[in-house]
Amino acid sequence: MTKQKNRKSRDKQYQSEKKNSKQPPPQRNQKNLKSKGKPSATDKKQRGQNNVTIEATCSGLTSEGKGIVQWEGKQLEVANLLPGETAEVVVSKKGRFNTELKRVINPSEDRSNPPFTYYHEDAGCQIHHMNDQAQKRFKQKTIDELMKPFGKPDPIITMEHPYGYRNKNVMTFGLNNERQIVSGLYAPNTHRIIPMERSLLHDPKADEIIQTIKGMMKSFKMQPYNEDTGRGFLRHVLIRVGKFSGEIMVVLVAASPVFKGKNNFIKALRKTHPEITTILLNINDRNDSMVLGDQEKVLFGKGTITDNLCGLEFEISAKSFYQINPVQTEKLYKKAIEMAELIGEETVVDAYCGIGTIGLVASQKAGKVIGVELNKDAVRDAIRNSKRNGVKNARFYQGDAGEFMVQMAARGENADVVIMDPPRSGSDEAFLSSVVKLQPKRVVYVSCNPETQARDMKYLVNNGYEVKKIQPVDMFPQTVHVEAVTKLVRKEEAGNQ
Ligand code: SAH
Repeated sequence: MTKQKNRKSRDKQYQSEKKNSKQPPPQRNQKNLKSKGKPSATDKKQRGQNNVTIEATCSGLTSEGKGIVQWEGKQLEVANLLPGETAEVVVSKKGRFNTELKRVINPSEDRSNPPFTYYHEDAGCQIHHMNDQAQKRFKQKTIDELMKPFGKPDPIITMEHPYGYRNKNVMTFGLNNERQIVSGLYAPNTHRIIPMERSLLHDPKADEIIQTIKGMMKSFKMQPYNEDTGRGFLRHVLIRVGKFSGEIMVVLVAASPVFKGKNNFIKALRKTHPEITTILLNINDRNDSMVLGDQEKVLFGKGTITDNLCGLEFEISAKSFYQINPVQTEKLYKKAIEMAELIGEETVVDAYCGIGTIGLVASQKAGKVIGVELNKDAVRDAIRNSKRNGVKNARFYQGDAGEFMVQMAARGENADVVIMDPPRSGSDEAFLSSVVKLQPKRVVYVSCNPETQARDMKYLVNNGYEVKKIQPVDMFPQTVHVEAVTKLVRKEEAGNQ
């Protein structure tokens, strides 16, 4: 395969992997936000060039938070532009009419003043330019639209200090055209690195450590990995911060296990950042877009961090899923447990349980908890976490949640409440049809992708369940993503709820 083909197939793979990860995907345009009236754009065309600067007024937002403007009978999308604002926009007439906001002439009242301007909307902060109220309205509208068939969602639960909330960062390393080392994020659907030193969303300490590592690479003659030539060493650095515990994990993701100057590197890194509590080396020699490989080696500390959530203590491995915004997670879990309406006797299934967080919190109010999760490291963490917190009534199993539920249904087992929190791609028919067979009184559905959530809820509604509550939670401020927890009740029970 040629290099270009290689890259193309990787980028394609990257798109499909993104679909299966927990982060929500971009959503389709909202139907009701079509621009009205005549095109308001004034064309200031520069003859013979592909780029033109136009003056245009924004008439609405796409579901990705981009401003909609009309130009020459076409609907264009402009990042960072708000409804009602008139602006100068550079339009590239080549190919897909890409746009770039040049200058806002009349800033909207919805515009915010972020604490600092270093950002890149490609890197995830799609709506950082909206103030808190505007973000709230935007997300409420998204969820109201998607959940329309089931009823009216409650007001979204927002975050008081909506910056620096991410407890996990992954930065990719490479060389720029001047052959200087850069660290940053991949531009959407590509393997092009957008250099980024500081983000509105990251824990500032994590950004600082990444910059230290970048600075150390030169003196340690450590090269970033080059995907095209297969040369070099460091691919990514993953940092997890225990927001409550203060513990910090650094994972150096390398293409090879041969780490020259390892001891001195670790010593120097710890000297600059004594707050680091564990360092791991993860080997990823694959040619795809997964950040972490299977093999890992603890270079310093215990190889995991602990954090506190809802009054319990959780141990977290590098490869396990852990909610990225712990402040909002506590609010989300509280709502989920409320919706489960536990009185101490119920059998609760915690499906897609990760490191057991929801199940262990629920176990305090339930008869017993059965957790199921695909990732074996996460299941090991869940079992450890159960012991660590002295929980006696929870069991965790490794496997596909759908298959597990099919077997439970076949054995004629009983479940009073099913709490489900699948990845962004949602659940599947095996799982949902088994839920219907098991006939739990209540299903509590937690999701970071309301589109697949609505699809799965429709299945349950068509098969004997009724939606009783829809609670959106803003787990990802400054981004277009929205999380929701919903409560579904079996129709025979619904009368009593
Ligand atoms: N409830 C947990 C984790 C939610 S993330 C929490 O709140 O932290 C979704 C989890 O589903 C991830 O841990 C992922 O590894 C797991 N998963 C993905 N596909 C799965 C499947 N088919 N069966 C079981 N678990 C799966």
